[in-house]
Amino acid sequence: MDYWRAIVLYGLNVATYKIALARCLHGFVADGKTRVTMHELAAAFFALYLDRLQKGMPQLSNPSRLTRMETIVSRFRLGQVTESQAIDFVEQNAFVDVVPRFHTVLDEPVPVRFYEQDREGLILTDAAFLVFESPQAGNLRDEVDSRWDLLEAAFLIRRDNLELVNDIRKFYLQGGYPRTDVTGMIPVLNGYQKGICFYCGEPMEGLECHVDHVLPRQVLQHDDVWNLVLAHAVCNQQKSDALPDRAYIDKLIVRNEHFIASNHPIKDELVRTLGPTPTARLRFMDATYDRIRSAIRVTWAGIPGYRPDIDPFYRSLIRSLAR
Ligand SMILES: [Zn+2]
Repeated sequence: MDYWRAIVLYGLNVATYKIALARCLHGFVADGKTRVTMHELAAAFFALYLDRLQKGMPQLSNPSRLTRMETIVSRFRLGQVTESQAIDFVEQNAFVDVVPRFHTVLDEPVPVRFYEQDREGLILTDAAFLVFESPQAGNLRDEVDSRWDLLEAAFLIRRDNLELVNDIRKFYLQGGYPRTDVTGMIPVLNGYQKGICFYCGEPMEGLECHVDHVLPRQVLQHDDVWNLVLAHAVCNQQKSDALPDRAYIDKLIVRNEHFIASNHPIKDELVRTLGPTPTARLRFMDATYDRIRSAIRVTWAGIPGYRPDIDPFYRSLIRSLAR
């Protein structure tokens, strides 16, 4: 179960293939299949993307390209290929990376395998059945779907296909500046956080930590300190370019007010950028959050039904993965 979550939820994804494969495996286990041919997998994969792509969300982080799945689904919708030609295309083209790499998280293989591959297809392992038959299995499908939503939302803000996104981007580009080196801010930020990750609340001691932009830099285009926090590298990667839930913004507001109330040297900068009074600053934060939210739509809530702060596996995993 824990390794399943690690595969689906952790790490950087440049496309949505892994998530789609996870959904297919879930479906095969639910149907009691222990072995599937690559052709059956291709059919399930194609059906899933055909449904998913109705929303028109991007499936790849690179904005100038389409995934093979997006390409073949569009060609099928245009009547250029039949369903069986489309499935053949998927079988031959879509699995080159994702099938061998599914069990890899942040460049490390996880010690459990949910399938093995042979010449005919995939053989589902006992581990796959154990995961989906466990009492917590009910949430797994929702987790996979919500990770898929999140990836699409993160990819979307790199796209130029929505007028609103463009307007908001333009708005921030005018006041923005190129990425600066924010590592110099670590001691200041840590003075408040005292070694605790902003997102999971766990100690960062001895682990790789990142300076994170709470509201995505992709949109804001600046490195102003009011928006910077410290987080585990792994937590930062999980959040990626997504907009976090409002609770994290409230946490950020409290943090900034603390710096101002304690006459910290960065107080003047915070007052200058956010406003002279707590009310003005709250208004600024509300307006900024709502503006970005209107473009990104989906927020990052951490992991649904999952509490990293009390999960011992999560702690040990981030320790072992951080290098
Ligand atoms: Zn963390």
